[in-house]
Amino acid sequence: MSGVRPRKRFGQNFLHDPAIIQRIIDCIDPRPDEFIVEIGPGLGALTQPLLRGAGRLTAIEIDRDLPEALQSACRGLGELTVINADALRADFTTLSAGAPMRLVGNLPYNISSPLLFHLLGHARAIKDMHFMLQQEVVDRMVASPGSRDYGRLTVALAVRARTQRLFTVGPGAFTPPPKVWSAVVRLQPLEEVPEPRVLDQLDRLLIQAFSQRRKTLRNSLGKLVGLDDLATCGIDGQARPETLSPSAFLSLARLLATRTTD
Ligand code: SAM
Repeated sequence: MSGVRPRKRFGQNFLHDPAIIQRIIDCIDPRPDEFIVEIGPGLGALTQPLLRGAGRLTAIEIDRDLPEALQSACRGLGELTVINADALRADFTTLSAGAPMRLVGNLPYNISSPLLFHLLGHARAIKDMHFMLQQEVVDRMVASPGSRDYGRLTVALAVRARTQRLFTVGPGAFTPPPKVWSAVVRLQPLEEVPEPRVLDQLDRLLIQAFSQRRKTLRNSLGKLVGLDDLATCGIDGQARPETLSPSAFLSLARLLATRTTD
């Protein structure tokens, strides 16, 4: 592997399984001249086939020791622009310059949730996203109401994007192998996203509701909403938070948002 020692602090688990790489590329289906941005290209396991498909690609890599090896691995495959930066701080709206981009990444597990929310803050600049994440995180992203995995992440994502689990990947596909299974997920930002002040209220509700999952909504949300508010939104105060649909949480958030501006 080009003599590069994977760095744990950057979550470097490099993909080496050709069948898995091909499966990911088939799901993305890169087309000539699409604007594709890869987060964390590493040594180019995905970058190379993406470049073959799209002809050009922009990659954001935090590790300043990798771009040289990456550029030489991708030589002759297309036009590769590498930005040496932290994706958590990147301004994806400016990067897109009005052309909605397709984001791709085998993401470092330690930054996956903050990165997802950072990206969804730039949703208008994004056409779709295909990410490899820790399977347990994907379970929470796509969970149905009433299940153990349904929670804050599920609801917060559901009001911002369509989320689809594509397939799971075992540790053996990576060097070094991670301790956990992974899964590939597709996210498509919704056309209509609630206003920021509604999203702020939603986050308050979710923190309150899911930090005390065992409590009824009436008890856990008591500081924020009254029983009559729950009734206005058609919500049973005796229910537990994991049974409440994303749209019900959103109605409550909208109610709170009108109150804070009045
Ligand atoms: N895409 C390569 C592959 O599939 O073999 C590497 C995947 S590895 C799991 C994660 C990559 O993300 C590494 O190259 C790492 O250096 C990079 N990375 C980690 N944190 C990052 C950040 N905050 N911004 C950009 N890249 C980051």
